[in-house]
Amino acid sequence: LLDVRELTKNFHVPGAKGNNTLCALDKINLYVNRGETLGLVGESGCGKSTLARTLLMLETPDSGSVRFDGVDPFGLKSRELLAWRRRVQMVFQDPFASLNARMTAGEIVSEPWATHRDLYPTKAARQARLSELFTLVGLRPSDAGKSPQEFSGGQRQRIGIARALALNPDVIVLDEPVSALDLSVQAQVLNLLNDLQQRLGVAYIFISHDLSVVRHVADRVAVMYLGRIVETGTAEEVFDRPSHPYTAALMSASP
Ligand code: ATP
Ligand code: MG
Repeated sequence: LLDVRELTKNFHVPGAKGNNTLCALDKINLYVNRGETLGLVGESGCGKSTLARTLLMLETPDSGSVRFDGVDPFGLKSRELLAWRRRVQMVFQDPFASLNARMTAGEIVSEPWATHRDLYPTKAARQARLSELFTLVGLRPSDAGKSPQEFSGGQRQRIGIARALALNPDVIVLDEPVSALDLSVQAQVLNLLNDLQQRLGVAYIFISHDLSVVRHVADRVAVMYLGRIVETGTAEEVFDRPSHPYTAALMSASP
């Protein structure tokens, strides 16, 4: 479904070594199959979010390619690009910071339809889909008029998930989706994500520094270290028989 080859991204920052260039992504190779969960782990600053942002085309790579069903989105014209963008969505770490406090929950979830008008062209269709989405993520459709502050952290993350689902994507990049939540709430949100995957067949790229969470949710795992993927394999392979010293170090450092 998604195929990333030799993806490289540099940032120019004063003080970085070698020509003030900081290599955030160094020849990244990875793939994601339809309906599966790829766990992406690695320490802070290793490039996980930069990779996520590049897959959403919020960053332009310096070299390498991203292919989605064989198509390179960076080569597309605006109309096709819009159709492509629909297929990859993102959920952010902090539901407090990522949801606009001046909008209602319903407005937040339906906002993507403003740029993708063809999807639900009539107001009635949008209303019906909005109720459906709220129900799907375990929220009451009657709460659509409330502002994000009126929801708990877990509920806010449900709003974020509903928004990511609004365009019926094939892939959702989840950047530390539960790390801002209490443990018991984490479990609820993880169960919801699992449930949605079973029902909708959506693929996840699940970014986390919490190995126990990744082990629980991921079909395959990619370990990132200093802008590179140093190891990939099934969750069992990577966690039970790590082949790279960094993976072993990461595992012994986590509880
Ligand atoms: P964390 O686990 O803390 O979220 P991360 O793995 O997501 O970390 P990134 O946010 O991708 O890491 O950052 C990778 C590197 O790129 C870091 O050294 C960061 O300082 C740098 N970086 C990220 N975005 C930019 C930017 N827009 N301009 C300059 N440098 C950046
Ligand atoms: Mg990050």
